[in-house]
Order: sequence, then structure tokens, then C-alpha cells
Amino acid sequence: MTLRTTLLATTLAATALPAIADVNIYTTRQPDLIQPVMDAFTSETGIAVNLNFVDDGLVERLKAEGARSPADLVMTVDIANLKRVVDADVIQPVDNAALAAAIPETLRSPDNLWFGLTTRARIVYASKDRVADGEITTYEYLASEKWAGRICTRSGLHNYNLALLSAVIAHHGEAAAKDWAAGVKANLARTPQGNDRAQVKAIWAGECDISLGNTYYMGKMLTDDEQIAWADSVRIVFPTFENGGTHVNVSGVAMTKSAPNKAEAMQLLEFLVSPTAQAIYAEENFEYPVTDAVISDMVAAWGTFTPDDKNLSMIADQRPAALRIMEEVDFDG
Ligand code: FE
Repeated sequence: MTLRTTLLATTLAATALPAIADVNIYTTRQPDLIQPVMDAFTSETGIAVNLNFVDDGLVERLKAEGARSPADLVMTVDIANLKRVVDADVIQPVDNAALAAAIPETLRSPDNLWFGLTTRARIVYASKDRVADGEITTYEYLASEKWAGRICTRSGLHNYNLALLSAVIAHHGEAAAKDWAAGVKANLARTPQGNDRAQVKAIWAGECDISLGNTYYMGKMLTDDEQIAWADSVRIVFPTFENGGTHVNVSGVAMTKSAPNKAEAMQLLEFLVSPTAQAIYAEENFEYPVTDAVISDMVAAWGTFTPDDKNLSMIADQRPAALRIMEEVDFDG
């Protein structure tokens, strides 16, 4: 190739690129968790992705912008947040065979309004010294007197615990779920406070023996010099429901009604469930792919589990009841 044709090709490439629309994403996730997978998409397709980090007021912003919103996709964590966006009537369904084939039915909306991209299990962190291996098998068992004065957790009103209680309701009904919440409360070593990692720190400090937490926090602690000792004091236990599996929640995505770049956004959605993207995206936050993509050695070392079989949409529907129960048993009191 001569210098002249090389220059021409370069010029063409440079002018051709802007003709491809960018994909605009509003996300509540830390941009550094998302950037690597978007970079992989851009290098494969030439389509740029604009990440717009929206910390608060995501729903209000989408409603205010309405049909003029530049956002094509919304990415957030937890079914409660996905449901809030969907309930605000700013989302359009995505009918796509590749997504339906890749994502288990329990981890996407029956109406194709949201799609889980990664999962995290809500598990028990157990003291290596004070809790025997294999001692904890079920969530139900956490309400047993055996654990009196031994459990630490964050607020019962936090989304993570409300989703777990919602799953208890989905399995056993409201009356039994209320007994369970009251039982766990009676076993608390201290008033609910702090985040999931603060509970592991409390186990390390000897204040309690077990705590509720999401799996990825183990990865965050293991990669933090100040927290690695907390992580080393516990093991991950994957409890199951007596009549089900381990409770999981998702990080997920939805397409806005306005989506100005729908075709490109659709291409990105399909890319996000590809094995490469799933592996990259899950690993950034020590989560699990929704497909059978490769997981990192660290996450694999925590063990295997069977995700619960209740659809997350069904669990989300129980949130108002879960909130009421937490207030009735005065969980945080
Ligand atoms: Fe979290």
C-alpha cells in the first residue's frame, strides 16, 4: 500500500466512524466496573459507548427527559432498582432470541423489560474458628435459637435484605416469613448497622459468628489490604431454602422507550451475553455470569451453589410485604 492510499484509508476510517451512532448508557454502577466490557464491545464493533454515571435520581431524570432522553440503555443493580425503572414507564420491551436463549428465565422479565447480566448470591459469612464447616445449611435455620446473639447484619430495610425476605415470602408465605424475620432479629448480636463488609469485620473482631452478605464483597475484601484479615476470618456458606436454592439477585439492563440508537443498543445487548463479555463483566465485580461463561479462580474457590428457582420478578412483587414485615417485627429497633 502506498503512503497515499494509507492516508486515504485512514481518512475514510476517521470520517466513517462518527456515522455509526454511539450507544448512551445511564448507569448507577461505578463506571470502572463497566468500562472494560464496553471497551471490548467498541474494539469489536467500532461503536462507541458513552457511560453516564447517575448516582441519584435516575428514574426522575428519565421521566423528565421523556421521549427526548439521549439514553438508550439503563444499567443498575438489584431487582428493586430495575423494577423502579420499569414501573416508571420509561422502558420498552426487547424481543430478542439471543437474549432469551442466553439468560435463564428466572433472571429476566417475563415481559422482556429487564435482563439480568450478572448475579450475586446473598449468603452467610461464617467464622472459621467458631462455626463448624457444614453446620449451616438453610436460611430457615438462621432463625433457630442455636444462633442467639451470634448474627450480624446491615439494616433489614436495605434492598439486599428486603429481597431475601421477599424470597422467604415467595417460598413460605407471609406468616412464616414474619416468624423467620422475628427469629433472625432475636438472634442478632447487635442492632443492624453498617454495610455487608462491616459485618464481616465484626466477625473478625469477635462480636458475632455469622453474617448475611453478598458474595462479591469477599472479592472486594480479599483485594483490599486493610480488609483482607476480615475476609480470612470467615468462609462463605451458600445456604438454600428448605424447598429451593440459594437466593441470588442481579445487575441488569433495560432499554429506554426513547432509545435513539436502538439498533446499536441491541447489538450491545447481544454482545453483553456473549461468553467473552460475560466473563469480563462478571469478573470486574467478583460476580457470577448469567450464562455458563468462565468465572475467575478466586470466585470459583468460594464453591458452587444452586441458584433459587423463583423468578426474580415474583420476588420483587413481594417487596411491599417484606417492607411491612420488617417494620412490624421492628427489625432495626
Ligand atoms: Fe453491594
